[in-house]
Amino acid sequence: MLSAVEQADFSWLEAMLVTDDLLLYYKRCRRRAFLDIYGDFSQQDKEQDFILKLRQDSFAHRQAVLAIAPHTSPKYPHRDWEAGAKATLELMQQGVERISQAVLLMQTADGITLLSRPDLLVKQPGESIFGDWMYVPTSIKLGRRPKPEYQIVAAFSAQLLATVQRAIPRTAHLILRRHDSFTVQLERWLPLMQEVLTECLETLLQEEAPEVFISRQRCSLCHWYSSCYAIAQSQKHISLLPGVTPSRYRDLQALGVTTVESLAETTISTLEPAVGSEIASDLVLQAQSTVQKRALLRERHYPILGDVGNTNAATAKSFININSLPTASVELYFDIEAEPDLQLDYLLGVLVIDRRNQTEVFHPLLAEHPSDEASIWQQFLDLVWLYPNAPIFHFSDYEVETVKRLAKLYGTPFQEIRPLLPRFVDVHQRVMSAVTLPVESYSLKHLARWLGFEWRDAGVTGSQCVCLYDKWLKTGDRSLLDLIQRYNEDDCRATYHLKNWLVNFLQDTIGDAHHEEI
Ligand code: SF4
Repeated sequence: MLSAVEQADFSWLEAMLVTDDLLLYYKRCRRRAFLDIYGDFSQQDKEQDFILKLRQDSFAHRQAVLAIAPHTSPKYPHRDWEAGAKATLELMQQGVERISQAVLLMQTADGITLLSRPDLLVKQPGESIFGDWMYVPTSIKLGRRPKPEYQIVAAFSAQLLATVQRAIPRTAHLILRRHDSFTVQLERWLPLMQEVLTECLETLLQEEAPEVFISRQRCSLCHWYSSCYAIAQSQKHISLLPGVTPSRYRDLQALGVTTVESLAETTISTLEPAVGSEIASDLVLQAQSTVQKRALLRERHYPILGDVGNTNAATAKSFININSLPTASVELYFDIEAEPDLQLDYLLGVLVIDRRNQTEVFHPLLAEHPSDEASIWQQFLDLVWLYPNAPIFHFSDYEVETVKRLAKLYGTPFQEIRPLLPRFVDVHQRVMSAVTLPVESYSLKHLARWLGFEWRDAGVTGSQCVCLYDKWLKTGDRSLLDLIQRYNEDDCRATYHLKNWLVNFLQDTIGDAHHEEI
């Protein structure tokens, strides 16, 4: 009788492969999976340093997990999947305990080849074509959480493995960052995976790429971003509007609202049943601001510390925004650069604006080495207490959270931190509360650039600074630190610029509003 390896026939192997990665990307974006197969590769973006770092970190994580116990990999020529599948079968038939980088192949009814390369197959007792043992798949991922796309891919491996060994694995595993192990419930995820796979195959058999939909979080890590963004801009696609998520887009489409202009003219009562009154008024105001290309005062009151109780919109107009944006003779603007993998806040940048003496001095409190974090934390405390009455402006809540984290980590007495906290003023929160702007995102970059502020080094981003700092630690090249400091100083200056603009806008607008009311 022929063995499983001898019986294996992969003559159907097609050029178009649906792989674990393709399915994972499909789950995140249908268009991405289509472009990864049919797209014009000359239009792909150059790999960003940050993505390269993610890939390297992911590889290192996988190696570290695999190194914990002995394992055997199938040997085959590079990308010769047929040879890889046969070599994997041989190892399975031999009953090897742990098989890494296995190759599993399967053909669909449409003749499309499915290829899964689970990080690890682990031998377990059970019945399969090999004898009284079978295998279960394990995927090793760098993420902290068992995201749905990870579980879909684990179920995909399990499905192909079931075909190869003719026995459904009882379970599948994920090993996540910090080596946390997670069990994938196959009875739940196999049917879900099948749905996603069917949709994915249908998409790949279409002639046209799925519609562009720009979602910053998802698209910023995608190598098709520039080409998709150019299309979205040329179409004035409604996904460029802040607040239009994929599910809200479906709601808007159902109502026949597919352009920014039509959204600007839609009544809140039309949208309200689908998205609720708050979201409806936000979306319409956002569209109006974009169409009119101007800042619009929000009329809905968002509670801000110190403003509680002012629920009347007219009162809110004249009260919350100015009072919650103090202008002082000395103001501090604070921004942090961090290295999340090292759990390190390595640059505490503080811009001191002294209006009395008309000076602007930037203090880059920099940990040249991770062990210097305690020292820059102390320098930060000394600096902010030199100006005990100065408000500390920042953008987003990360700065306050970090102050609390560092205080706890370095045992700073709470009495020292408690009077500091009320001095923090989150400019992002104030902008979001007070005004709607014709921007694609309420990030500091988009807001400040809309006001005409430019960073000195146009291509540098916060995530790139993480790579630059890592490179500094490896190379000792001081020019990298200079770049990071300049970037951080410009973030502080952008926050200053934004805060000044907001104060002026509110004074002008509220003045007008009062005038109209009188
Ligand atoms: S840029 Fe965005 S829309 Fe385009 S393929 Fe990538 S994730 Fe999808």
